[in-house]
Amino acid sequence: MIRILGLDPEKDANLVDTDQRVAKMYLEIFSGLDAENRPRLTTFPNDEKYSSMVMEKDIPFYSMCAHHFVPFYGHGHIAYIPNERIVGLSKLPRLLEFYARRPQLQERLTEQVATTLEEELKPQGVMVVVEARHLCVEMRGVKKPGALTVTSALRGIFAQKAVREEFLDLLNRRG
Ligand SMILES: [Zn+2]
Repeated sequence: MIRILGLDPEKDANLVDTDQRVAKMYLEIFSGLDAENRPRLTTFPNDEKYSSMVMEKDIPFYSMCAHHFVPFYGHGHIAYIPNERIVGLSKLPRLLEFYARRPQLQERLTEQVATTLEEELKPQGVMVVVEARHLCVEMRGVKKPGALTVTSALRGIFAQKAVREEFLDLLNRRG
C-alpha cells in the first residue's frame, strides 16, 4: 500500500517500519480469527431457578469492516433467560470482543454472539442488539457522519413480543 500510494520510507522517516507495525496491529485486532482465543464460557448450575432476564448492556467494542478494513465500533447489549445453567457475566463482553476481533460484518457479529450463547448455554432464549458507527460510511462513500446502524438477533423465548419489550425496557432504562 505504501508503494502504491507513491510514498517512500527513504524520504519520510515516519514510514520506516510502518508496514511491520500495521502487520503486527492486524494480528492484534484480528486475534478473534484464532480459535484458541475463544473465551471458554464458564457456566454454573442455576440453583436458584432464576428465570428472569439477565442483561449486560452498553458493552463497548471495536471491529473492522470486512469490505473496507476500516473500523466499525459501538456498543452491544446481550440478554438471556436461563434454563438449567447461568454464565459468568464477564464472559458476555469477552464473547462480543472475540467475534469483533476479525474482519467482520455487523450482522454476522450479532448472529455469532447469539448462536454461541444459544448452543453453549442452552437458555430459554437469547437476544443481542448491536449499535455501531461504520467509518466506511462516514469517511468515504455516502459520508454520513454519526449514522448509527442497529442490528438484532433473537432466539427462543425472545420471539414473544412481551419478552422483547422487557428487553427494550431494560435497555432504555438509564443510570
Ligand atoms: Zn465497509
